[in-house]
Parts: sequence; structure tokens; C-alpha cells
Amino acid sequence: MKENGHLAHSLLLINALPIRKFVWTAKQVAFSTKKYPDKTTYIKKMAKYKLEYLWLDGYTPVPNVRGKTRIGDYDEFPTLEDLPEWGFDGSSTQQAEGGDSDCILKPVAIYADAGRSGNAALVMCEVMLPDGNPHPSNARANILDDPGAWFGFEQEYFLEQDGRPLGWPETGYPEAQGEYYTGVGYKNVGDIARTIVDEHLDLCLAAGINHEGINAEVAKGQWEFQIFGKGSKNCADQMWVARYLLLRCAEKYGVDVNLHCKPFEGDWNGSGMHCNFSTDKLRDEGGEDYFNSLMDAFEKNREAHIAAYGPDNHMRLTGLHETQSIDKFSWGVADRGASIRVPHSFVNNGYKGYLEDRRPNSQGDPYAIASRVLQTIAEVG
Ligand code: ADP
Ligand code: MN
Ligand code: MN
Ligand code: MN
Repeated sequence: MKENGHLAHSLLLINALPIRKFVWTAKQVAFSTKKYPDKTTYIKKMAKYKLEYLWLDGYTPVPNVRGKTRIGDYDEFPTLEDLPEWGFDGSSTQQAEGGDSDCILKPVAIYADAGRSGNAALVMCEVMLPDGNPHPSNARANILDDPGAWFGFEQEYFLEQDGRPLGWPETGYPEAQGEYYTGVGYKNVGDIARTIVDEHLDLCLAAGINHEGINAEVAKGQWEFQIFGKGSKNCADQMWVARYLLLRCAEKYGVDVNLHCKPFEGDWNGSGMHCNFSTDKLRDEGGEDYFNSLMDAFEKNREAHIAAYGPDNHMRLTGLHETQSIDKFSWGVADRGASIRVPHSFVNNGYKGYLEDRRPNSQGDPYAIASRVLQTIAEVG
């Protein structure tokens, strides 16, 4: 141990010598000034960073992600504390009148951006009013949050070109659903979809987003990715940034992302954003009685959940295509036709673990969805 300590110390010394390194971290500069008080003039090498400030606009019922780039000088990858607030023209995003158009961007999370050359970051922001209060469109500011509440969102979506899902004929329909889900081969997934979903996966991983996986979905041209996060704000921030990265990386292929929950009527699956959730109590204590009380509360609050779960959900929650009807509530073990699917492992472990709410739709706002789930859980106590 002692030897290791010496080694670490001498390595630090070597590291602190100016000839060893051109770029100095703040820690190293502090160390060197302490150690060599006469050498306070070491030049810190600042680098230009492209910081994409992201926010949600004021469109209803579904906001769009917007972004603009700020160039900043930093000697290392900036932390949230290093990032100043910024502003934008709210009159162009349905967030202000032209006569008084300034809205404020308050950074709340930062991720690496591997999709741009040089040093780049994605900065998720909340929109604030000039008086410092959250803008009415700011759905993040006041949601329920709890680091013990873990969420796993499964985002389904269609990739589209010229208004049709990738691989669909110009008119009419492709082969009926069957082989597309987790399928392989040109006839099932086409030629560029995999390039896009893999590139998106790489971008998310490089960003530090807790991307958990991808799969081709039940309809042709439909895909899914999963994101896991601890805390509602943390997980939902990651989901919004992942949506942004998907939209942005598809641009250069001439491909759009359709997040609507039922782009095609007929015998085609819609897109959901299943919300898997667990709390300290659900993971550590659980129990059948607690589970039953929780399900009673979910049933009682059915309408409030549906209201928070995204627009046009009546088109998707029909009772067909692996959904429960919008006007019914049910739970079932391993039941994909239930509102809430209970994993086998949950029951086998004494009603402990996580649950899957299958009703949130692909266009839903993860801030609102996670907060609604926590509100109902809080009612049970
Ligand atoms: P399926 O398609 O069968 O519903 P997925 O593997 O696509 O299953 O999604 C499962 C989701 O459950 C993932 O997003 C994962 O992060 C999430 N999950 C797993 N364990 C937990 C947990 N303890 N709390 C919350 N979410 C969880
Ligand atoms: Mn899934
Ligand atoms: Mn799915
Ligand atoms: Mn699922």
C-alpha cells in the first residue's frame, strides 16, 4: 500500500512538470502553484468547445427539441457549473410574443457530443422567464423526483423517407407483420436502417447516456431503443437527448423519425414508450399487499395517467396489437395485453422488483410520465 502511495505521489510530480504535458487541468495548475510558487505564469491551454444548448419548445400537445450552438473556451470538458445561462428568441418557438421575446436557457445536464468534429457537448436546458421563474412550457422544473426511483423507457419509433416508413412500397403495404420484430435480412429491415440505429447507439454511448439496447420492432420500418436512469429528471433528460441524437443522425440519410403513436391504421403495431419503474420500496420490501394497493391506486388514477401519457393514445390503446383498451385498467403477469405487465421475476421474488406500464406512448413526455407514476406511488405511501 505504502509503495503504491509513493508511486502515485511521484507520478503526480512527473505529471506536474510543464514539459510532460501541454494541457493542464485545473487540479494540476493548483498543485503546481502550491509546489512551485514562482511558476504561477504557466499558460493554461484553452480549447474551443461547441456547446449545443438543447431545450423543448412551446408547441402543443408535443414539444419539439430545439438547439443552437454556443462556442466556449475551456481547458477541459466543462461541468454544469462552468456553463453560463444563455438566451433565445421565444417568439420563434411559441414561447414568447415578438415585443418581449427573450427566454432564458438554464443548463441542467451535459453530455459529450461525438457527432461533431473537435470538442463538442450537448447541454440540456430548462427554459426560464427573465424573472428567474420556470417558463410555462418548462415541464421539467416542478416534477416529482427521487434518486431511488429507477426508470427504464422503451422508445419505439418509425424511420421514414418521403412520408413512408423505410422499406414500405410507394403505394400499398409491405408483407404482413410477422418476421420484422428482431428480424434480419434485407426483406425485413432494408439497407440503411441498421446503419442509422447503430450510429445512434454509438452516439448515445459516447454521450454517456445509459442506452440499454435496440431491436427491430413488430412493424416494418419500426425500431426501439431502451434507456435506463435513476431519478425521473435524470432518465427523462437522457431520453430527450437520445431523441435529439436520433433525429440529428438520421438527417444525413434523408430519413425522418416519426414518433407518432399510430402512424398507420390497420393491422400495424403502434409505437409505445413503455415505462418500467421501481422504487426503493418496490425493490427492497415489495409484498403482495403493497402491490395490490399500488394497482388499486393505478386503477383509480387511470384517466390522469392517460392524460399524461401522450396524445392520440386512443388510436393505439385499442385492446389489439399488444395493448389494453384506453378505457380499461388491468395488470397481468407477462401479459402484453395488460395496462401493467408484471415480470415473472417480480412474483417469484415475493412481489419485489420493477413493473412495466405499457400505456405511455412514443410521443409522450418522459418528464410528465415519470412524475405521474411517482404521484400515484406516493398516494399509496
Ligand atoms: P420488453 O421489450 O420485454 O418489455 P426491454 O428489455 O425492451 O423488455 O425493456 C426492459 C426495460 O426495463 C429496460 O428499459 C430496463 O432498463 C428496464 N428495467 C430493468 N430493471 C429495472 C428496474 N429495476 N427498474 C426500472 N426499470 C428497469
Ligand atoms: Mn422492449
Ligand atoms: Mn417494444
Ligand atoms: Mn416493454
